[in-house]
Amino acid sequence: MWQGIIGHDEVVNRFRRSIEAGRLASTYLFVGPPGIGKKRFALELAHSLLCTNAADAVLQPCGQCESCRMFVAGNHPDLEVVVLPPDKSTLPIELFIGDREHRNQEGLCHRLELRPFFGRRKVAIVDDADHFGIASANCLLKTLEEPPASALLILIGTSPSRQLPTIRSRSQIVRFRTLPMEDVAQVLIDTGVASNRDVALQIAQLSDGSIERARQLSDTTLWEFRNRLYSALQTARLDSVRLTRLVQPFVDEAGKETSPRRERLRIVIGFVIERYQQSLRSSAANEARLATQALDTCLSALEQIDRNANLGLVIQNWCEGLAGGTIRNAGSPLGFASAPH
Ligand SMILES: [Zn+2]
Repeated sequence: MWQGIIGHDEVVNRFRRSIEAGRLASTYLFVGPPGIGKKRFALELAHSLLCTNAADAVLQPCGQCESCRMFVAGNHPDLEVVVLPPDKSTLPIELFIGDREHRNQEGLCHRLELRPFFGRRKVAIVDDADHFGIASANCLLKTLEEPPASALLILIGTSPSRQLPTIRSRSQIVRFRTLPMEDVAQVLIDTGVASNRDVALQIAQLSDGSIERARQLSDTTLWEFRNRLYSALQTARLDSVRLTRLVQPFVDEAGKETSPRRERLRIVIGFVIERYQQSLRSSAANEARLATQALDTCLSALEQIDRNANLGLVIQNWCEGLAGGTIRNAGSPLGFASAPH
């Protein structure tokens, strides 16, 4: 395990080999599902490469030098981190080239051109690289094509296909794999998130190999909601309005910003997917067909969330889609035994 990061030893070794061979690229594009530690990895890589005591290929910051101390304190002058503002759907150009009054005098592209404070290099991390718009990608183009000698740029996204071709073609792609369920469960136990192995495994199963998602899933209010949701799904005639009234407020409770609400809706849809996958495995042909329809409805809702669709509309369409299956099929509950009356 490197720097407390589980599951990505292969990537660490790849970086060590590149550095030893003198082939550290100037731009990397980290891809993989959300919540598996890509950003943490990028930060630890930056930490190691900025340390003034340790050799690059060791990839182990000393923790003692001034650079390391400033890094840990969160105010390292040679580290730039850009994230998508919560109220924006694309990365604003100001983050790269400064606002109108300070065009090309501020922002990530400008700061990467400056001499490194500690003389080694400058590292910039762009989280949410899935959200480059044409304008912000164009701002970065010159930096990508003629990177300053001392600059290392790390872009973090989910998949190469979600990146603009201008960015994808100028970056070296590093793939991060989802974590095995046992690893996720172990992290939950080690960090005290889960009290025992059974609970940890149950949460890990729903986590899609993402520790971030597993942490969210350990919230007991989610599990209480899951029980309510499952009882609602078990009723003989699923009512889309009632289902919407159950889901919408629960999603809204996640926070004022869109991002936590979007994440909560993903989890709620994940619960329903889990339920229908179970019935797919264990039920008769007709019920399996209904479960497949429901799963399609869930996947299409997840796609809409990824496309930043209005959450209220996604919930409404999703609930109608789920209920539609039962109504069209004369009230047959989708693969579940009827709720006891
Ligand atoms: Zn150090």
